[in-house]
Amino acid sequence: MSKSKIVYLDYASATPIDSAVFSIISNNMKENFANSSAIHEMGMRAKKKLEKTRGEIANFLNALPDEIIFTSGATESNNLAIMGVLEKYSSYPHIVTTNIEHSSVLEVCKYLEKTKKAEVTYVAVEENGIIDPRKIKEALKPNTVLISVMYANNEIGTIQPIREIIKEVRHYRKQKKDLSVFPIFHTDATQAVNYLPMNILKLGVDLMSFNSAKIYGPKGVGVLFKKRNILLNSVSKGGDQEFGLRPGTENVAGIAGLAEALRITEKIKEKESKRLLELKNYFIDKLIHSIIFENYRIVVNGDLENRLPNNINITIPKIPSDLLVIELSARGIYVSEKSACKTNDKKGSYVIEAIKGEQTGSLRFSLGRQTSKTDIDYTLKALSEILKKLKKWYD
Ligand code: PMP
Repeated sequence: MSKSKIVYLDYASATPIDSAVFSIISNNMKENFANSSAIHEMGMRAKKKLEKTRGEIANFLNALPDEIIFTSGATESNNLAIMGVLEKYSSYPHIVTTNIEHSSVLEVCKYLEKTKKAEVTYVAVEENGIIDPRKIKEALKPNTVLISVMYANNEIGTIQPIREIIKEVRHYRKQKKDLSVFPIFHTDATQAVNYLPMNILKLGVDLMSFNSAKIYGPKGVGVLFKKRNILLNSVSKGGDQEFGLRPGTENVAGIAGLAEALRITEKIKEKESKRLLELKNYFIDKLIHSIIFENYRIVVNGDLENRLPNNINITIPKIPSDLLVIELSARGIYVSEKSACKTNDKKGSYVIEAIKGEQTGSLRFSLGRQTSKTDIDYTLKALSEILKKLKKWYD
């Protein structure tokens, strides 16, 4: 098979920019380049655009404009959520999270533990990659300030029962009878935006992070939703932009791009989720049942039902997954092995280790708007040829 065709199956890592989003960014770069904090007319124009966009994004989430904080991406939003709460309420230093969060949550937690600024409980997910809400409740302590549980996992696509966890949290808060906001609930929704409901009132979250890179928008732009009654300290120090919580000149063009990307993804969410679900099921069915894979025991990682419609994560015992990524890449098929944010970490995926109890390789195929059935068939054929070639060395 030659590299005549390109099949991009790494949408969970980054999506191509939507052309309508691209035009909006380029127009705004030309028209709204002024600093939105400047008091001259051009600055005021940029400010007006910024605030209009903030209102639009708030509308999509069913939030209020002053509950939307613009950041440089989901990493910064996660850092601001966790560190911001910790610094504000430092007398209650216990955090509950899970063992499969993105590194931008886990590394902050580890740092807080190491510097003795907080105690952290990492609740283990079940074998299917889903957290049991009761285990989150059991982990709570009188000094728990924050719970951080991702909406959907970036490697195995499992969807966490956010609403059920929040129900448990509300019940717990009521029992405490001190009318406090603790424990505050934060979710990293980065992987969920394209496919899952984002109505913050229905979800009941206090803090929610996401970025624009995963929704066919520009990289380097993100949002932290912060409910009005939750107070944070800023993490970076500087100017008083973003309600004093995130200093630095706002990227008005990028933010306008994010709003357009969010508008498009909300509009096509239902239809696109359905289309990808069919493709995903077709892909998994072929991997497990097709005769071309009958000599391999392909294991699908993570729950088969409660997962994002674009995620297929598999382990093929004995065959090194980095080799598979390279072999597929040589045929123009781009997939990933683990989170791109942990590429320099020589160990395997901690998410796979968390659900399997050991380090095994894994391959993540993440589908998106440009993925067709032809792409899936092409990938299946290439994979079977690669396995046939590698089997003689790795059996
Ligand atoms: N959280 C999750 C679940 C992600 O998938 C990512 C991106 N891989 C991030 C956070 C970090 O996003 P960003 O690159 O915008 O900082």
